[in-house]
Amino acid sequence: MKPSNTIDQRSGSSAHWDMNKLLEAAQTVRENASVPLSRFRVGASVLVKGGEIFEGCNTECLIPVLGVCAERNAINHALIHGRNDFLAVAVVSDLYAPLLPCGTCLQYMQEFARQQSRDILIIAEGRSGERLITSLDELFKGGFPPDTSAREIQESFRWSLD
Ligand SMILES: [Zn+2]
Repeated sequence: MKPSNTIDQRSGSSAHWDMNKLLEAAQTVRENASVPLSRFRVGASVLVKGGEIFEGCNTECLIPVLGVCAERNAINHALIHGRNDFLAVAVVSDLYAPLLPCGTCLQYMQEFARQQSRDILIIAEGRSGERLITSLDELFKGGFPPDTSAREIQESFRWSLD
């Protein structure tokens, strides 16, 4: 995808938006990361149709498996406000180089992308200022085939030891 501030082909929207503003929201919320175990801070922000931005930071507690990535917290922040029409996700961390979302977050995003029949732009910026602009479809080649029903997905998780 071309580095552009117009999300058109994939979203159907011609609304202009400010990529720097989206990244700034992620940088600001990174300061709130609650990371007593890793001390590794990540901030994320999601842009929804119409231009509204929802942010999230990574959160941990002393039981490691209960931690949640910044990207999923940002998505959940939007969901809490009734929004699931994601156009773009921005991610910043304490790393010098850009950090892309983990596989779990990509899988999570894919479910909403499919509901909306669109790709999601992904922007990652490192402390160096280096910026990667890519998309969910480009990063996540796996997942369930597009025509898989919700029922089939649920049934695939019913494991049996028989
Ligand atoms: Zn993640």
